[in-house]
Amino acid sequence: MQQTADVAVLGAGMVGVSAALHLQARGRDTALVDRHGAAGLETSFGNAGLIERASIFPYLFPRDLGDLFRYALNLSPQAHYHFAALPGIAPWLWRYFRESAPGRAERHAHDALPLVERCLEEHDALIQLSGAGDIVRRIGWIKLYRSDKTLAKGIADAETLRSFSLRIETLDTAALAALEPSLSPVKGAVHFLDTASVADPSAVAQSYADLFQRRGGRFLAGDVRGLQQTRDGRWSVPTHEGALIARDLVVALGPWSDQIFRPLGYDLPFAVKRGYHMHYGVAEGARLSHPVLDADNGYVLAPMTRGVRLTTGAEFARRDAPPTPVQVDRDEALARTLFPLAERLDPKPWMGCRPCFPDMLPVIGKAPRHEGLWFDFGHQHHGFTLGPVSGRLLAEMMTGEEPFTDPTPYRVERF
Ligand SMILES: Cc1cc2nc3c(=O)[nH]c(=O)nc-3n(C[C@H](O)[C@H](O)[C@H](O)COP(=O)(O)OP(=O)(O)OC[C@H]3O[C@@H](n4cnc5c(N)ncnc54)[C@H](O)[C@@H]3O)c2cc1C
Repeated sequence: MQQTADVAVLGAGMVGVSAALHLQARGRDTALVDRHGAAGLETSFGNAGLIERASIFPYLFPRDLGDLFRYALNLSPQAHYHFAALPGIAPWLWRYFRESAPGRAERHAHDALPLVERCLEEHDALIQLSGAGDIVRRIGWIKLYRSDKTLAKGIADAETLRSFSLRIETLDTAALAALEPSLSPVKGAVHFLDTASVADPSAVAQSYADLFQRRGGRFLAGDVRGLQQTRDGRWSVPTHEGALIARDLVVALGPWSDQIFRPLGYDLPFAVKRGYHMHYGVAEGARLSHPVLDADNGYVLAPMTRGVRLTTGAEFARRDAPPTPVQVDRDEALARTLFPLAERLDPKPWMGCRPCFPDMLPVIGKAPRHEGLWFDFGHQHHGFTLGPVSGRLLAEMMTGEEPFTDPTPYRVERF
């Protein structure tokens, strides 16, 4: 049976759910559509759960020759690539390399700043309204350094962040042991206190979606790939309950957003950085209280509802290529030297895809060649963090409100 709405939001990850809530709060009759018929079951399910208020500088393409060499040989735990995917992704990687150059990278960080600065405030509002507070921790996260050289760089990087009014503490071995007694000693650490984290990212997305539904929002199941524009310029979205006809359409399909924008004629430099997770039990008597980054090796250990979650760095591969979780094995070996992990708790590693543009900024705003088409995707390493603030900005633009920040840096026309 056909239904109508003011807005159809495609994708119920953290980004889509947040956009739907903000549109609903501004009086738009909004429907969410996801192939799973439930929220937060893809990339927003398996991430490290950080609401990364302190992440002012984006993840850059490495420029250090030693790093590049190790990456080229596929020997690094931080990054892995599929040789067969290289011809396809080389042009994107080249752009990413260029956009990571000093000067450009600072400009992109500056452009992302209004979103990052407001990320926690926007999550807090939704956490309070949705009642998700008991799965949120406000104890920061800790970057661990295993060598004097990396510790010195980590401390220098932290110093540059102090000018952004962040609460940062440098920890020596004793101070780290006081906070995390079960960790093996490392050279030192930096504690970012403004970062929040959650014990179950998917549950947070689901409780935001529950709030949307409690407030009268509709959540429909369906694969949206067959969507069409009607003769009168509205959008017809296929769902299991029949077509949903909407005046406005928001594409928030995360790493699958290209399934909609490419057929509509938008040629955007979009790629994914894949990543994996595995949960572990903990040896008797041991405990991990904070999410920690093994900064020299690029993986995170985070205490979660299900166990200690190890999340890996980036894998450059085709989104739909079969999983190759070699980084989980490499990281696990390193993590066992840091923390007494017990048995694996998942039957196989989970895989997700970070949706990425080479300038490390998302696209938030109106699609230039179609009436009623809006984009909200490409949040790369920080979509869980930036979902709510992006939703606010998008909804402000769609409803003609004064946007809280100039949306120009996120325009799709920059490509
Ligand atoms: C290992 C790893 C660790 C990470 N750690 C963090 C972190 O600590 N903090 C942070 O902020 N970010 C982190 N990220 C990034 C973050 O998880 C993503 O940026 C974010 O989840 C993207 O959210 P999204 O809503 O755009 O996409 P998704 O959560 O993937 O949602 C997209 C939705 O679209 C739906 N969909 C797709 N195709 C269709 C279709 N054809 N029809 C209908 N529905 C469809 C999917 O079912 C899905 O629900 C991490 C990512 C990875 C991989």
